[in-house]
Amino acid sequence: MSSDRNASPRGTLFIVSAPSGTGKTTLCKRIIDIFPNLRQSVSFTTRPMRPGERHGVDYFFVSPETFAEMVAAGAFAEWAEVHGNRYGTAIKTLEDWRNAGLDVLLDIDIQGAAQLRESYGEGVFIFILPPDLAELRRRLEGRGTDAPEVIERRIANARREIPECVRYDYLIVNDDFDQALHRLSAILTAEACRTARVLPALAQTFEL
Ligand code: 5GP
Repeated sequence: MSSDRNASPRGTLFIVSAPSGTGKTTLCKRIIDIFPNLRQSVSFTTRPMRPGERHGVDYFFVSPETFAEMVAAGAFAEWAEVHGNRYGTAIKTLEDWRNAGLDVLLDIDIQGAAQLRESYGEGVFIFILPPDLAELRRRLEGRGTDAPEVIERRIANARREIPECVRYDYLIVNDDFDQALHRLSAILTAEACRTARVLPALAQTFEL
């Protein structure tokens, strides 16, 4: 990290997608604690708040009307309907942090990732996979939070989402949580070592 803010390049965008039940949320939470320069984007959503969630921390919870107004105003870098609710990433969230030299982590679905890939033209795309569908089913059943029909829907969604992984830059199979976290850390570290990111801080020192 450069000590001179003006010399630091814009932060990198990390886009993480995964079928439900692959451990993505926990991985994202842990990685934020490891990299001090990384912020997790807080999305806007029309879905109702779940117990324990906080406005402005987990999501900005807004009405369908407010969400539609934001879409019309071009406020979103991407947005999508997921399981009947709308979710979107505000351009302002990304730009403010990236302009301050901070990296931004987006936990978004495959539709949102596809939009960013096409419209934003930047970003490191990471897809998390379960070892196989039988293990995904075991994990979903083990959580004990979903009714059998919800589990079937999640498995069907995973079957539909997994083929999209071929469009991502990095794939992490979450067979072992610590190893998956290690791999995710390695990707972030490698991206931070890219010549284009390191050079501005070294240019003066070495007269490059
Ligand atoms: P949940 O309602 O369980 O928090 O999230 C459901 C799904 O919505 C997850 O797959 C999550 O990645 C996705 N999601 C959360 N925020 C956004 C967003 O801003 N844009 C898109 N496209 N998907 C999102």
